[in-house]
Amino acid sequence: MRSPIPEYLDEVLRTCEGDRAGAVADYVPELAAADAEQLAVAVSAVDGTVYEAGDSRTSFTVQSISKPFTYALALADRGCEAVLAKIGVEPSGEAFNELSLEQGSARPRNPMINVGALTAHTLAGPPGAPREERLERVVSGISAFAGRRLEIDEAVCRSEMETAHRNLAIAHMLRGYEVIEEDAPHVVEDYVRQCSLLVTTRDLALMAATLANGGVQPVTGEQVVSREVVRQVLSVMTTCGMYDAAGDWVTTVGIPAKSGVSGGILGALPGQVGIGVFSPRLDPHGNSVRGVRVCERLSADMGLHLMEAP
Ligand code: GLU
Repeated sequence: MRSPIPEYLDEVLRTCEGDRAGAVADYVPELAAADAEQLAVAVSAVDGTVYEAGDSRTSFTVQSISKPFTYALALADRGCEAVLAKIGVEPSGEAFNELSLEQGSARPRNPMINVGALTAHTLAGPPGAPREERLERVVSGISAFAGRRLEIDEAVCRSEMETAHRNLAIAHMLRGYEVIEEDAPHVVEDYVRQCSLLVTTRDLALMAATLANGGVQPVTGEQVVSREVVRQVLSVMTTCGMYDAAGDWVTTVGIPAKSGVSGGILGALPGQVGIGVFSPRLDPHGNSVRGVRVCERLSADMGLHLMEAP
């Protein structure tokens, strides 16, 4: 018998597609050119079976959804203690691109805001590795979660570099406070490359399924990171993953998640499913309007809320 899940996912998309609220991110010129009507969902079981609907094979840049994965690589390469010495785990309640550090310790508050994500990028790979090696560790590491080699969208990368003043200011601040030792513009350039990796909604579901599956990519069978690393990453996603709407999200949807400015959302429920959704129009917090609606539906219909007894 054919699974009823694809029809169900089609129906979910149909009920959300009429919502044209929000606006496509325009602070990166190339992102502003995105087709705002795109809408996709993909759900992967922890065995790698993927169900998808809509534009699920259309590529877009991963943007901030790369952050939990680079954080995972940093934890795997340097150990939890060394990473915690550099980056905290407290929600900031501030915009993703705020120039802020914890009082006293001068640590970025968490790895999901840019100040922490730029720092996490420098912690991937072995200490002192040349930047090319570090970037390759990030690209191949994030690709391992997806189960296929991901490519960088050079046009989006160039476009973002033209307006990267805020990230450059953050990186110089990090250097000034000796949180990073690397050349600040190089760190920004490589972080922007990381954000410009092209993914599909299907990739997001499989990357999420790898987290939900204790770090084992369900299709390739590779143990990409340890279970301990996954636990740390999903915990931080729960409290800090949805910009400054994390509280709203955790109460309504209740799944560890991360969103990005190109309109993607990735959600991972341990032991159960990985979810990817994509639609470019964003709400004032920076989360995909239809993406949030789709996730609310999936969570309610499938009983996915973390805090609900089975
Ligand atoms: N490239 C983006 C930046 O750092 C990522 C932002 C995001 O998706 O939140 O500005």
